[in-house]
Amino acid sequence: MIDSYKHKGLRKQLVDTIREKGIVDEEVLNAIGKIPRHLFMDSSFLEFAYQDKPFPIGSGQTISQPYTVAFQTELLEVKPGEKVLEIGTGSGYQACVLEELGAKVFTIERQKKLYLKSKKFLAELNYKAKIFYGDGYKGLPAFAPFDKILITAGAPELPADLASQLKTGGMIVVPLGRGGIQIMARFIKKEDGSMRKEDHGTFRFVPLLKKLADD
Ligand code: SAH
Repeated sequence: MIDSYKHKGLRKQLVDTIREKGIVDEEVLNAIGKIPRHLFMDSSFLEFAYQDKPFPIGSGQTISQPYTVAFQTELLEVKPGEKVLEIGTGSGYQACVLEELGAKVFTIERQKKLYLKSKKFLAELNYKAKIFYGDGYKGLPAFAPFDKILITAGAPELPADLASQLKTGGMIVVPLGRGGIQIMARFIKKEDGSMRKEDHGTFRFVPLLKKLADD
């Protein structure tokens, strides 16, 4: 697995691009600047790895656009040591960004092939994120409560099980909406258990699906 000067240079340009698009959190920008995104993609796409675009990763899924990864991560306001649950491991790239911010990362993927691939790959890169094969709608009750929850697929509504696995004062960032377009929502859990909701603009995600896929 090679991370050349050329890759590093392209990555620096990518960081400049997403900074220009409005990302201000230096920790998030550092993480994007550090992680070798080209290694998370199929080799035929290597030359595109540092464009600010989503790309196919197999099993009909995509690695999110770097700006979108940075935007969701910035909204989540991750602090070192926090327990963060990600729904939709995909390539594992977002999980690594969260880990670079010092989070203890738990992540769930419903496509068995992607789960197996990302579990092996993250271990090779020495990331410690705990990866689970399962239905993200159900969360991980055995490891709850979480400080933060990040959903990286478009959900029709806020999954109730996930809301119940969030600490008071915790946040859930989720692209909400059916069909091709979602509104990025941030929910903050109040003392009485109810959620305060904020909207943060429109994005496009693959859908959060209900059944497990074991191929
Ligand atoms: N975070 C990923 C990109 C996510 S794409 C990355 O950094 O590469 C969305 C992912 O969510 C896909 O891999 C898809 O298979 C997964 N997914 C969809 N519905 C799910 C569910 N109910 N539970 C867990 N994962 C789900």
